[in-house]
Amino acid sequence: MSKLAIDGGTPVRTTPFPNWPVWGAEEEKLILEVLHSGNWGGANKDKLAVLEQQFAHRHGARHAINISNGTIAMTVALMAAGIEPGDEVIMPPYTFIATGTAALLAGAIPIFADVEEDTLLIDPHKVEERITPRTKAIIAVHIAGAPANMTSLKAIADRHGLFLLEDAAQAVGASWENHKVGTLGHAGTFSFQSSKNINSGEGGIILTDDDTLMETMWSIANVGRVPGGAWYQHERIGWNFRMTEFQAAVILGQMTRMDEQIRTRARNAALLDKLISGLEQFQPFRNDERITTHAYHIYMFKIRAELASPAMKEQVIRMLHAEGIPVLPGYHSLNCNTAIIAETAKRTGKQSVYPCPVSERISEAQVLWLGQAVLLGGEQDIYDVADALRKVSARMNAYGLPD
Ligand SMILES: *Cc1c(COP(=O)(O)O)cnc(C)c1O
Repeated sequence: MSKLAIDGGTPVRTTPFPNWPVWGAEEEKLILEVLHSGNWGGANKDKLAVLEQQFAHRHGARHAINISNGTIAMTVALMAAGIEPGDEVIMPPYTFIATGTAALLAGAIPIFADVEEDTLLIDPHKVEERITPRTKAIIAVHIAGAPANMTSLKAIADRHGLFLLEDAAQAVGASWENHKVGTLGHAGTFSFQSSKNINSGEGGIILTDDDTLMETMWSIANVGRVPGGAWYQHERIGWNFRMTEFQAAVILGQMTRMDEQIRTRARNAALLDKLISGLEQFQPFRNDERITTHAYHIYMFKIRAELASPAMKEQVIRMLHAEGIPVLPGYHSLNCNTAIIAETAKRTGKQSVYPCPVSERISEAQVLWLGQAVLLGGEQDIYDVADALRKVSARMNAYGLPD
């Protein structure tokens, strides 16, 4: 095997992987239409109305409502569901901090239920263990673009009368048993922030089939107005959480490429799964057979448990970067975040810990990420990633197995 790049050898990869964002004539045309129309935002929805209608339609949802970003979209959904200060919201610890802060912003206490070892998605059994009389909602996070086990989560939510919210920020286009994510719970939220698979710089949207919930969410996001009411008729406390027409224009452009990009990512991810399965030192995550479409916002894989340690993970990242592979270390487990723990303690008056050993171990010692854009190129890109992994594997053995 050739010399590692960190030792002065030739890197496997010297050319860049595909860039993000991807855009073209469609976005340009639509943005200019908004600019020239003079209708840039506010109440006279034009492109935003088209976006809401198209987004709802392609998901098979009754309603869609544009919201300033994914965090606020979750907050609005929780507020509209009647979450009150002190209520508990169960969520996975392996997620972006916004899942936790959205619940905090709605006044709730985030409660962490550990993830499954082989998927990194919330474990329905662990959810049940965390339910108390104060539990009001569950947030299912479709992390990396893989749908969580919505069949079990829905059964639990129904049995206990809980609000089930899907954080689908990373999973636009994904589906579970042929149903699009965002339509499986009581409401589903998406983000159009710049890293996401549909990107308008910032932005968000909520889906729901519930007419009452829709009206409440709309009111909260539109300064307490009532649908069809007078301009200065404010019947509840609400804020301005709207997007602009420019953002809607960009999203409508991005959506024209969505299906093709999903197919490309899925094809490349399947190849990478196969190549990684052939290596002793690395392992892909399992995809539940009920996942009919995986959105691959992130391609996650892991260092095998027998070799894993935080030090090993750090070394592997350094070696792969030197080989030209842009792997990322990913999240720290959110149940260990000191800001979340401190804010929770302020509200409950006690220091509560929600141990999530699986999430803690995998996040610190095992998981590695590749961003979605790495999957948007051709087969050669994937073979290069696998070659680099094979190359660093030899050194991982030299670091040795722990006693
Ligand atoms: C990006 C993201 C959010 C927040 O979306 P913003 O639009 O950045 O507020 C929430 N949850 C997850 C899992 C995300 O990846």
